[in-house]
Amino acid sequence: RTAVVLFTRDLRVHDHPALATSCAAFDRVVPLYVLDPALAELSPNRTRFLHQSLAALREALRGLGGDLVLRHGDPVAETIRLAGEVGAEAVALSADVSRYAARRARRLGVECDRNRLHLRFFPGLTVVEPGELSPASGDHYRVFSPYHRAWSARQWRAELSAPTSVTLPVGVPVGRLPALPSGESPDAVAGGEDEARRRLARWRPDVARYGDRHDDLAGDATSRLSPYLRFGCLSPLTVANAIDDRESPFVRQLCWRDFYHQVTAAFPDLPRKAYRRRATEHWRYDEQALTAWAQGRTGLPVVDAGMRQLRAQGWLHNRARLITAGYLTKTLGLDWRDGQAVYFRWLLDGDIADNSGNWQWVAGTGNDTRPYRGFNPVRQAERYDPDGAYVRRWVPELASVAGGAVHQPWRLPEALRRTLDYPPPLEPPGDTPVWLR
Ligand code: FAD
Repeated sequence: RTAVVLFTRDLRVHDHPALATSCAAFDRVVPLYVLDPALAELSPNRTRFLHQSLAALREALRGLGGDLVLRHGDPVAETIRLAGEVGAEAVALSADVSRYAARRARRLGVECDRNRLHLRFFPGLTVVEPGELSPASGDHYRVFSPYHRAWSARQWRAELSAPTSVTLPVGVPVGRLPALPSGESPDAVAGGEDEARRRLARWRPDVARYGDRHDDLAGDATSRLSPYLRFGCLSPLTVANAIDDRESPFVRQLCWRDFYHQVTAAFPDLPRKAYRRRATEHWRYDEQALTAWAQGRTGLPVVDAGMRQLRAQGWLHNRARLITAGYLTKTLGLDWRDGQAVYFRWLLDGDIADNSGNWQWVAGTGNDTRPYRGFNPVRQAERYDPDGAYVRRWVPELASVAGGAVHQPWRLPEALRRTLDYPPPLEPPGDTPVWLR
């Protein structure tokens, strides 16, 4: 008896319920990944990371006696074709939440029915499955705190080890992974399950200082595991269990990830439409300002530092994400969808649920219970980068400006300002904000 396991963004062998269960129940298992040309263009950074992760997955599966079968094209058509070729009776994959994934699941359902294949979805992309927790009123949690309480109290599923062996049917052509594509960010990290597990082990002792330090822009005290969670090189349950304290501020962040996944499952229009029922949207369109923001040339140092880190590393500190996104929407009044698109192109961890959920939170159209909160980028910079080290790291034009003065170059003495090759701040629409007066 044979099953096909379709990998999507769960590129690992440890704690992979679809793989582990199929290996236990079937004599032969065909691990499959379908390179979908519709996704390849979205982000060169992520495409490179994906290919690295696929190469690592293939190595891991070979180590277990199996292999990773690679096909190109439409994932549904290729899965059904391969199942026919190997005489499979079942198809297994991890359940996912985006509109793209939901459509793929529906089409797979129809085609599996037609071809008498048993289709089964498994958990594994989140700690707690979307839909597993629901409030007394409504189908999903709209507010984080009660979700977090229910999530922490929930008995999580048992973590699974890697299968001891994977047996492929004889004679399946496995296909070649194309040459590694280039990304756009010179300092992007490399993908793969081994790399992910090494990083988790290395970072684990630092969790003790996470609560105090994670907002410090220059301190860089966060795990940087997000790209690995995005591609499933690590199971989120493995990461949560590694910390062994559900109340830790770090595990709470993993809960935010689950939270936005259950929001996306219930509201798949999240990347396009305001989530909050009575949200009013009056965004401007200003191509020059949007480009200056995207390229890190707004003249507001902390924003430029963040956007340059994004372009250099394909990753950005969470506090810098809050500041750059708050500046785009609340200061410049530009549409969160335009900012979201720029992030989505560059981020290695770029993910529909987390990206859209957070952009909407910042823009006040999403899950924030205080959608009209004020935003002052200079105060944020002074609080989270008090001596300006983060700004000087990413904006070398300001390297000669000492201390926190670097956050407001427009207040420097004229003579000094003229020596700096750095633009004046963009003029926000409406009244001049306090920090610029
Ligand atoms: P850590 O602080 O070490 O946190 C551990 C893990 O918790 C992260 O890897 C991530 O999986 C999860 N997490 C942490 N914060 C959040 C959060 N606010 N929402 C959801 N999950 C969280 N995260 C993405 O993974 N993909 C995105 O596309 C994305 N877009 C964002 C856009 C904006 C405007 C903002 C404000 C935040 C966004 N985030 C996104 C959330 C967060 O900034 C990143 O997850 C975090 O910075 C990743 O770094 P880390 O792994 O060192 O995080």
